[in-house]
Order: sequence, then C-alpha cells, then structure tokens
Amino acid sequence: MNIIVWIESRAGEVKSSSIEALGVARHLADAAGGEVTGVVCEAGGTSIPDAVLTAGAHHIVTRTRDDWNNCASDTIARELAAVSEETGAKAIICSATAAGKEVVSLAAGAMGVAVAADCVKVEYSEGHIQFERPIYAGKAHLLQGVKSEKIAISIRPNYGEKLTCDAAACVENSATAVKGWNRTQFVEGDSGQVELTEAEIVVSGGRGLKEPENFKLLEDLAGVLGAAVGASRAVVDLGWRPHSDQVGQTGKTVSPKLYIAVGISGAIQHLAGMSSSRTIVAINKDAGAPIFGVATYGIVGDLFEVIPKLESELKSVLQ
Ligand SMILES: Cc1cc2nc3c(=O)[nH]c(=O)nc-3n(C[C@H](O)[C@H](O)[C@H](O)COP(=O)(O)OP(=O)(O)OC[C@H]3O[C@@H](n4cnc5c(N)ncnc54)[C@H](O)[C@@H]3O)c2cc1C
Repeated sequence: MNIIVWIESRAGEVKSSSIEALGVARHLADAAGGEVTGVVCEAGGTSIPDAVLTAGAHHIVTRTRDDWNNCASDTIARELAAVSEETGAKAIICSATAAGKEVVSLAAGAMGVAVAADCVKVEYSEGHIQFERPIYAGKAHLLQGVKSEKIAISIRPNYGEKLTCDAAACVENSATAVKGWNRTQFVEGDSGQVELTEAEIVVSGGRGLKEPENFKLLEDLAGVLGAAVGASRAVVDLGWRPHSDQVGQTGKTVSPKLYIAVGISGAIQHLAGMSSSRTIVAINKDAGAPIFGVATYGIVGDLFEVIPKLESELKSVLQ
C-alpha cells in the first residue's frame, strides 16, 4: 500500500509535524507492504534537511515552480492528487495544521475520496487502515476503518512519532504537474511567533487577565519556556488577542506536551481544543472552575501573584 505525505515547508523550513506524519506513514507502509513518498512543494534549489530525509519516506518528490506561495493550498492539493495518481497511492497524509487541514480536504475533493480528519491514531490492522479521532468536542473518540477505498488523512500535531531511519529517502526534483491552478494568493506575512498548533508548550490566557496589556505576563512566561501564547474565545471576542490565537471548538486544536491555562474557566468549547494535551496546568482563583476537571496539576490562586513567581522560579531552573 503506497502512501503519500505532504511535507509542509516554507523556504526550506519543514514543519516538525510533517516529520511526525512521515513516521506514521512509514509504520502504515511497513505493516501493509508499500512505500512512502513525501511531496515537497518549493521553489527549485531548496535543500531538504537530513531529519526529513530519514524521517520515514522511501522517496521525496520536490515539485518546483516559481510561484509557490504560502497559501497556495488549492495548487498543493492538485499536486498531491497528481503524485497520488502517479504512485498509485492508497492514502494521502497531511499533518492537521491550519494549512494541512485545508490541503487534505481540497486534495480529497480533487480525488473524490473521503477524509479522516484530525486523527490521533492511525494504524494498519486486520487488512485495513484504522483510525481514531475525537468527536463531540473531544467527549468521545471514534474508531473507524477503511477497507478498499482511497482515503485522505490528517493527523493532529504532536501525536506521531518522529523516526530516524538508517536509509535516507531518494530525492527527485521535477517541475509541477499542475498548470494554471494558483488561485490563492499569499497576502500577509506570519507573526514570527512559535506556531500554536506545532508548539510543544502553550501558555493560554483568558478573561481572568482582566486587561489586554496583562498578556505581557504570559508572553514573558512563554519566552522563558519557548512556548506559544494562546487565548480563550472570550478574550478574542473582546479584541484583546487575534483570532489566530484562539484555542477551542471555533479556534485551533492544540495537543502540546504542556498546556498552561491561566485565568480560563474551562468551558466545554475551550476544552474541545486543548483537552488532549499531555500535561495540563490550570491557574485559576476559583477552586470550582471546570478547568480543574481536566487539569493534571492545578494552582488555586491569583494569577497576578502566581505567574511572576512561576516565571522567576523557571528562570532560575532553565536559564
Ligand atoms: C458556539 C460556541 C463556540 C465557542 N468556541 C470557543 C472556543 O473555540 N474557545 C473558547 O475558549 N471558547 C469558546 N466559546 C466560549 C466559551 O463558552 C466560554 O465563554 C469562554 O471559553 C470563556 O472564556 P474564559 O475562560 O476566558 O472566560 P471566563 O469564563 O469569564 O473565565 C475567566 C476565568 O478567570 C478566572 N479568574 C478571574 N480573575 C482571576 C485571577 N486574578 N487569577 C486567576 N483566575 C482568575 C475566573 O475564576 C474564571 O474562571 C464558544 C462558545 C460558543 C457558544
């Protein structure tokens, strides 16, 4: 069973979640008997890092064109559909980043196949691909299998295993197979901050911060930890933070190794976006706040006292 994986990159910098997606694909291909082809969509001459070459792909195809841009999801999807056709792939895998979710849906549409979105587990068992994905805002997990049809799969970041294989993938550069499909234009640069869905540590703030300026406390803490800063919808609706920072049902789904929720009550819609985090630390002055129901560790206290102390302790340990 051949599999293709979109290796999400920008100017040669590959998303670490794509390396995990290659690992998942390799496990599937080894179990089912097949090969993994990674697809890189970049301008010509872009080099591929060693960590990507040994991450599980047997082949890496770099599809070059001059006008690749960061938002060309429709073009990338067509490219994946073309490579899938060429390699006879049974599955297309992307990481469930913001761009990955878009690309996987568009690729599935281009090929007329189903999507298994935002999976937390994918394996080959009893002769078919089986996948597990959270449903009902994370209240339940759905286990499904696909027998003979092709399928497009997105995998939640931080859920795959990064592999280091002995043999590096063979790299082949070729011009794009897709003509005249660049309908999306990149219009804005990124913030330069750690990407929320990719981050290993996320520090999120809610209405308990009282003023938008107080997010500086969380930004400083995030700086010490190398973390991304997230937010509840309440503060996004108040205009304190951009929507791209929102975690939850109508924002981003994150599953970092450590999620620190500060002044966030823990409404079900917020939990939907973060309850699959490995370790959750909640800081809230209300001992009855629902966030403590999902927290691994809880600090009942005033965040304006707790955060500066926490930051100074962490600084003394980490720096
Ligand atoms: C359809 C729909 C979709 C939604 N999608 C999302 C979503 O994607 N993401 C999301 O987050 N929400 C979402 N919501 C909103 C959600 O229901 C909550 O309203 C929201 O999450 C609350 O945000 P909050 O926890 O910041 O604010 P609050 O609920 O007001 O909680 C503030 C918390 O701060 C604590 N606090 C106050 N002062 C301090 C202090 N000094 N020190 C420590 N703690 C303090 C309080 O005890 C309280 O628990 C959605 C709602 C709907 C209806």
